[in-house]
Amino acid sequence: MSKVTIIKQNLGPHHGNIQPTINFETAFKYISDNPDTEYRTTGNQVTFIAKATLAQKGRHRAQQVIIFRSQGKERARAYQCCWNHKTNCGKTHIDCYTQAVCQTLTAQSTRTGLLCAEFHQCPDRQLVG
Ligand SMILES: [Zn+2]
Repeated sequence: MSKVTIIKQNLGPHHGNIQPTINFETAFKYISDNPDTEYRTTGNQVTFIAKATLAQKGRHRAQQVIIFRSQGKERARAYQCCWNHKTNCGKTHIDCYTQAVCQTLTAQSTRTGLLCAEFHQCPDRQLVG
């Protein structure tokens, strides 16, 4: 008998490629300016918040990082190098968070029109692959 597991398969760091509709810089700036925005994960709609800050330690020290927190706990973090991937440097799945942020910001941009110029920037191809 094999056990049924709901834990996601370990895919390793920086797994897969996604093409976020919002780039890391735009998301970081929005989150910095709007720290109280609540998001819902793309999977099971868990409410979370995002915090834009600078890493305090480790090999990403002093780099920009977006931290995803729900129920008062840190669930995942995304550096710029992780943004276009399903998992971050630490093998944690981030796409359910990053895509939720992208969806929220895209919805806001179509409502307000304020951020349209930024949202239509082409992603930096040099960062991919
Ligand atoms: Zn990374």
